Amino acid sequence: MKVLVINCGSSSLKYQLIDSETEEVLAKGLCERIGIDGRLTHKPEGKDKVVIDAAMPTHTAAVSLVLKELTDKENGVISSLDEIGAVGHRVVHGGEKFACSTLLTDEVLKAIEECNDLAPLHNPANLIGINACKELMPGVPMVGVFDTAFHQTMPKKAYLYGLPYEYYTKYGVRRYGFHGTSHSFVSKRAIELLGGKAEGTRIVVCHLGNGASVCAVKDGKSIDTSMGLTPLEGLVMGTRSGDIDPAIIEFIAQKENLTLSEVMNVLNKKSGVEGLSGIGSDFRDLENAANEGNEQARTTQEVFSYRVAKYVGAYAAAMGGVDAVVFTAGIGENDSVIRKLVGEHLAFLGIKIDDEKNNCRGVERIISTDDSKALAILIPTNEELAIARETVALVK
Ligand code: ADP
Repeated sequence: MKVLVINCGSSSLKYQLIDSETEEVLAKGLCERIGIDGRLTHKPEGKDKVVIDAAMPTHTAAVSLVLKELTDKENGVISSLDEIGAVGHRVVHGGEKFACSTLLTDEVLKAIEECNDLAPLHNPANLIGINACKELMPGVPMVGVFDTAFHQTMPKKAYLYGLPYEYYTKYGVRRYGFHGTSHSFVSKRAIELLGGKAEGTRIVVCHLGNGASVCAVKDGKSIDTSMGLTPLEGLVMGTRSGDIDPAIIEFIAQKENLTLSEVMNVLNKKSGVEGLSGIGSDFRDLENAANEGNEQARTTQEVFSYRVAKYVGAYAAAMGGVDAVVFTAGIGENDSVIRKLVGEHLAFLGIKIDDEKNNCRGVERIISTDDSKALAILIPTNEELAIARETVALVK
């Protein structure tokens, strides 16, 4: 079956067409500046990338252009839309309603809308993408795959905050966690590398991308994760602060004469690695600057890595030990310096990173020494493939 995977944002839409039998990507691309002007970058497998500037006043117009390119005589990879057997949609927030992927019926769409409050930037955009596809591909089954679903196995002690309990019962204020599709995909692969049986395994997945989170996976299930009600909590990220003393919010608002939402904007968009280093949020720039002797760049790498290691330590306590620490996503897969810095803090767990094995990028590899007590593994994530697999499983 051919599955179209859609990841729809407020002004952008990423897609991949995946053959579920071979798991080959037939085409992928990105619509940008939807509602502004519009640009489609389309890459068919084995052919050159094409960039098309075309009006995209709505998401429906964007999806329509994608479908046109997928079936185009020159740039297309299928001869008719009938070949698309299902569409898998990334949905950011499923609240407590969705503990697994689900077929997108009208009732389900209503339930997703009820979660909009919890992810006001993401869920409405996801729904717009779903509705656009429904309009243009009526009759094709659609599946929603939630970033939060994998973490619904967390126990109460992990997901409750030390706040008045009624905030949880009235408003759903609790830890939800994100990147669930990636944590699930990567931990499943780690379990295979550990022998194939989920029971008894204790894995910490470090998903280190622009947004970053750590997840404790025990017996194949998420039991804790570093992101919370929103993706702002936890690690120091590209532009997000991660954990801070909540009192800083009022303190900074007064000192800098900022409103609450202005401070939140600083915490989400001007903090983290970018705010700390003054260089930017890209770890390649950070490494170059550190190599040129920029002290602040080196310090920022240390702050980032130290926070990751602290979470690994906390999750070792939560699981009574660790069998594998997995690195994934843009930084986790590509940045050997960060992996080494994290690894140095994990000696107390008996984890030793092998410098030679660690000298790699974007490949699956065990990077710990042969005598390391637990494995350190690099496993490339593939959220689109995970969504396609979930979609096929539900449609079949
Ligand atoms: P997201 O999906 O959250 O946007 P990614 O997982 O794609 O993020 O990760 C993007 C980040 O990965 C970039 O901001 C950059 O810091 C980092 N990155 C990508 N390639 C490299 C590399 N070769 N070396 C170091 N860091 C890299």
